[in-house]
Amino acid sequence: MSARYILALDQGTTSSRSILFDREGKPVAAAQQEFRQYYPRPGWVEHDPMEIWESQLATARAVLEKAGTSPAAVAAIGITNQRETTVVWDRRTGQPIHNAIVWQCRRTTDLCEQLKGQGLEETFRSRTGLVIDAYFSGTKVKWLLDHVPGARERAARGELCFGTIDSWLLYKLTGVHATDYSNASRTLLFNIHDCRWDETLLRRLDVPPEMLPEARPSSQVYGVTTAIGGEIPVASLIGDQQGALFGQAAFDPRDCKNTYGTGCFLLMNTGEKPVASKSGLLTTIGWGLGGKVEYALEGSVFVGGAVVQWLRDELKLIDSAAHSETVAAEVEDTGGVYIVPAFVGLGAPHWDMRARGVIVGLTRGAGRAHLVRAALESIAFQSADVVRTMERDMGAGIPQLRVDGGAAANNLLMQHQANLLNIPVMRGQTIETTALGAAFLAGLAVGFWPGLDALRGIWQPERVFEPQWDATRRQRALAGWDDAVRRCRSQVG
Ligand code: ADP
Repeated sequence: MSARYILALDQGTTSSRSILFDREGKPVAAAQQEFRQYYPRPGWVEHDPMEIWESQLATARAVLEKAGTSPAAVAAIGITNQRETTVVWDRRTGQPIHNAIVWQCRRTTDLCEQLKGQGLEETFRSRTGLVIDAYFSGTKVKWLLDHVPGARERAARGELCFGTIDSWLLYKLTGVHATDYSNASRTLLFNIHDCRWDETLLRRLDVPPEMLPEARPSSQVYGVTTAIGGEIPVASLIGDQQGALFGQAAFDPRDCKNTYGTGCFLLMNTGEKPVASKSGLLTTIGWGLGGKVEYALEGSVFVGGAVVQWLRDELKLIDSAAHSETVAAEVEDTGGVYIVPAFVGLGAPHWDMRARGVIVGLTRGAGRAHLVRAALESIAFQSADVVRTMERDMGAGIPQLRVDGGAAANNLLMQHQANLLNIPVMRGQTIETTALGAAFLAGLAVGFWPGLDALRGIWQPERVFEPQWDATRRQRALAGWDDAVRRCRSQVG
């Protein structure tokens, strides 16, 4: 059998990466290229779609060269991507009509406020599972149609295509204009219950249906590309966080993963039923696979690993992110110190955008190690808050937490997470979980892997952190945290 690899294209916010996986799910080679960020005004963020495409293509070619292999050895390509980022391009020429508007971009905040003012929050939430926010694609498309001269007329004539980054790359690779359910579910335009673009929402946002990609399940052959050489099927599209959930083999209801990056992203598989959150978590499509659609609850922590950068860059208490573990380990505990890094407000379940950070419990004996430890622990406390919210929404506890991302390398942090949640925290052998998820989905589509059981066998823990606290200690710690969070909120009143 000649095809030995799956090629995952991982198109992120700051870089394009390509990773070649073998049949054991091991990364054989990887290539990465950063691209430019454009900040045309405060709070606005753009990318050049052509630079995204060219950097992605360059890494795909480079990874084959690094592995010393040919396109014929690639059974399929899977694509995972930064979500919500919005591109509009000319259907005939394939030229973008404007830079991509990146998920972080706040330019449509006023428009979102208007929609909320019209009482449309529940309309959008019940159909899309999302809250009305500038983060999602819908208002970004409207902005492009309103601001690029002639765009609205051209879109109505069917001359323009809208797509998120998965869709843009697929178009460039194969000429097919499609997206998958996981990416569509982040647009504010997609009805997650019947998996169709929602006419009511399209009307509300003035988006002509002619420009929409066809929304399809996440694992299938979308088209064939010759761009890398040979003929390779593109066989999966998946948003990055859903990709990570799949790459963690979190295939069953209540399976949960946390990615510890700059912020933290928690997703819980809720099975074939969308679960509506009572506390403002998002309901999203995990993936469409094998004739089924699986849903997830999603919550995020705004300041995760970023608190470690703050210790390093502002307080200068540590030399590097990894150094935080050594310093924190100098003390047994924080001596009652809590840091709530609400630098940009508090997310789920508090939703207090005006909250600001606090340090509480200082005594004369509190020193550097206590502060560093408290900062690390804050990442676990905030994640535990989101997990506790998910458990309430789901009406069931989670059996274990699978973890990835840069800060998941921190053993002290992972142990604290296990202690707080009172469940095992499992770190997988593959750090490239997002790309692995895309590879898994593509491999399933072309028969490279026979089914989910084979993938379950591939996922292996590198280390398992078992909880070590009794109930009293856990409750005391959580009560102290809850108290610190209360103070951080009352501070701004
Ligand atoms: P992103 O994808 O958001 O850029 P990464 O997954 O690359 O994030 O993780 C980087 C973040 O993880 C940074 O905020 C960094 O401070 C933090 N980090 C990296 N290594 C460690 C470590 N050993 N201990 C604690 N935090 C870490």
